[in-house]
Amino acid sequence: MAVVVEHDLLRTLHRLHRQKNDLESRIERGPRQLKASVKKVAEITAAIDELKESYKRTQVLANEKQLLLKQREEKILDFKGKLNAAKSNEEFQAFKNQIAADEQANDVQSDEIFEQLEKIDEINSKIADQNEKLQKAVGERDKVQDKIDAEAAGLKSELERVVIELAESEAKIPIDIKTDYVRVAKSKGEGALAPLDGDFCGNCFKKITMMQHSDLAAQKPVACKECGAFIYLPENTRVG
Ligand SMILES: [Zn+2]
Repeated sequence: MAVVVEHDLLRTLHRLHRQKNDLESRIERGPRQLKASVKKVAEITAAIDELKESYKRTQVLANEKQLLLKQREEKILDFKGKLNAAKSNEEFQAFKNQIAADEQANDVQSDEIFEQLEKIDEINSKIADQNEKLQKAVGERDKVQDKIDAEAAGLKSELERVVIELAESEAKIPIDIKTDYVRVAKSKGEGALAPLDGDFCGNCFKKITMMQHSDLAAQKPVACKECGAFIYLPENTRVG
């Protein structure tokens, strides 16, 4: 006796394969949605690290300048002490000149230190801004994560149900075509089945032959000669 495969079974198999595919891709989409917000957190963190580095460098520079300033101030004091002990007018003038030069150098140095300190303030306020952004970004990321987790739980239990239903339907596939079905399903997934679309395979749009036409009408298994899908009639259609 010829093998008979009900279109209804093939229809159900196709529907379940599609559902399985859809659920799997929705589960996979989750981590991808998270990517953007994870990236944002990483970018802000990197910006903060860079600002902190720049803060450190500027602070070191300011400290060095301050040390120099102090050393020069001590030198000035020292010279001032020596003024009274000057042995000649010439020496006195030399000390005075040295003091004037050092005082001028320190004026410049003070301005520079002031600039460094301003820069430090600026960096600090930038760090505060970035920290605020980071907090928001982390909150956003956690929100996306929670949403994904909640969705994934529902999708996974739905997938489990579909996989069980699919296995139940697959158990009804006639033994004679089971091996072929398993092979095609393994390589093509939902593409292992295709509705007849007019006179064409609904997967690859290869025209079916007269012989395949009559086989379909007789509920004999028909595999598309192009893509290998098992062809079935959509609901409420007949092959004339
Ligand atoms: Zn085809």
